[in-house]
Amino acid sequence: MECDTAIIGGGVVGLSLAMNLAMFEGRGNNICLFESNYLGYGSSLRNAGRFRVHFGDERNLEFAIRSAEYLEELSKITGMNTLITKTGYLWIASDEAAYKTLKSTNELFKKWGVPLTEIPPELLYRNYPFLKERKEIIAGFFGKENGSIHPDSVIFGLERKARRLGVKILERSRVEEIEVKEGKVHSLRSRGVGVSVSRVVLANGAWMLEFSKNLQLNIPLEPVRKEIAVSEPFAFRISPFVVDSALHLYFSQTLKGEIIGSTTIGNEPKGVVELENRFAWMRTYANRLKKALKGSNFIRIIRIWSGYYEMTPDRSHIMGRMKSWPEGLYAIGGFSGHGFMLGPFAGKLMAEFLATGKEPRLMSLYTPERFSKGMTLNESFVIG
Ligand SMILES: Cc1cc2nc3c(=O)[nH]c(=O)nc-3n(C[C@H](O)[C@H](O)[C@H](O)COP(=O)(O)OP(=O)(O)OC[C@H]3O[C@@H](n4cnc5c(N)ncnc54)[C@H](O)[C@@H]3O)c2cc1C
Repeated sequence: MECDTAIIGGGVVGLSLAMNLAMFEGRGNNICLFESNYLGYGSSLRNAGRFRVHFGDERNLEFAIRSAEYLEELSKITGMNTLITKTGYLWIASDEAAYKTLKSTNELFKKWGVPLTEIPPELLYRNYPFLKERKEIIAGFFGKENGSIHPDSVIFGLERKARRLGVKILERSRVEEIEVKEGKVHSLRSRGVGVSVSRVVLANGAWMLEFSKNLQLNIPLEPVRKEIAVSEPFAFRISPFVVDSALHLYFSQTLKGEIIGSTTIGNEPKGVVELENRFAWMRTYANRLKKALKGSNFIRIIRIWSGYYEMTPDRSHIMGRMKSWPEGLYAIGGFSGHGFMLGPFAGKLMAEFLATGKEPRLMSLYTPERFSKGMTLNESFVIG
C-alpha cells in the first residue's frame, strides 16, 4: 500500500485533518488514517463534550472564538447533526483568587466582544435554583457563547465525510514504527506491513510522546488521567456548564438529562497509565457535588470512566514541526483538556498548511519550536 499522507490517530483531530485535507486537495484516496483501536478510542469519546470561547491567553481566546464558529458549521460540512447547543458556562467564584482572575480576565473578554456577565449571589440563586447557597460564594460569571456538542455525532460525521471523499481509514491498525531515510520520512509499519509515505502527521493524542521516543522529537507533552461520571437521567434543570474552581468541580446535564461532572482530587496519575477508576475519586466527586448541587444526595451514578488530558508546559496545543525533525514529519496535539472544542478547527488549519505550503497565522503561534525559543503562551483557564 502507498499513501501520500499518513495520519496517525483516529480521534477528533486526526479525523478533522483527514477530512479537511481531502476537501482542500479535492480527493482523499492518497490519505491514510491509522487508528490503533476504534475511532474515538482515545479522549475523543471520553470527554464532557463542552466548548467555550473564554480562555485566559489572548491568542487562545482568538483561536477558541474561531473554533466555536467552526463547530457551528460542522453539521453542514459533515452532513451529520452535531446537536450543538449554546447553554453557556457559569463560573462560580467562591474564593477571592477566583473572583479576581475572572474579573480581570473579563476585561480581555470585553475587548473581544464576549464579555462574561457578573451575577451577585442573590440573583445567582434566583436564576439558577439548582445551586446550593454557600456563604463563600462571591459571584457567578456567565458566558453565553459557550455550550455543548455531541462527541459521537462529531466523530461519526467526520468519519463518514472523510470516507466519502476517499480517505482510507484503517482501524485496529497501530503504527508500530516510522522509517526515516536520508533525513526524510520514507515508510511506516502497521500490522507488520510496510507502507510507503511522503509525509506523516502524528495526531495520536496522549500517546505521542511515547510513540515518538525513538525519533527523538522531544515533544513536551504529558498525559494526565482524568475521571468523569454520569448519573441516571433527571428532568432538565441544569442548563449551563457549572465550573467551581474552589471545589475543583464541574457539572452539567447531558441532552438526555444525566448529570455529567468531574473533579480533580490532586493526585491524578501521569503518563499512559491504565484507564481505570478509583473509589477515592468517586467519594470526593460525590461529596463535592453534594456541596454545590441541591438534591444531589439522592443521585445515583450509573457510569464512571477515565481518559487523558494531553498537557503541554503552557497548557496550549502544538501544530506543525521542528526544523530538527525528519523532513515530512508533523505533529498536532497537546490540547491540554481542550481538544474536542479546538481540535476540529486546528485540523482544518493544519490541512490548509499541508495542502498549500502556507502556514495560516493562527497556526504559526502554536509551533512546537516555541518551547525552546521562549515564545510560550500563558494559559490559566484549564478546567478539571
Ligand atoms: C474526562 C475528560 C473530559 C474532557 N472534556 C472536554 C471537553 O468538555 N471539551 C473539550 O474540548 N475537550 C475535553 N477533553 C479533552 C479532549 O477530549 C481531548 O483533548 C481530545 O479528544 C484530543 O483529541 P485527539 O484527537 O488529539 O486525541 P485522541 O482522541 O486521544 O486520539 C488519539 C488516537 O490515537 C490513537 N493512537 C495512539 N497511538 C497510535 C498508533 N501508534 N497508531 C495508530 N493510532 C494510535 C489512539 O488510539 C487514539 O484513538 C476532555 C478529556 C477528558 C479525559
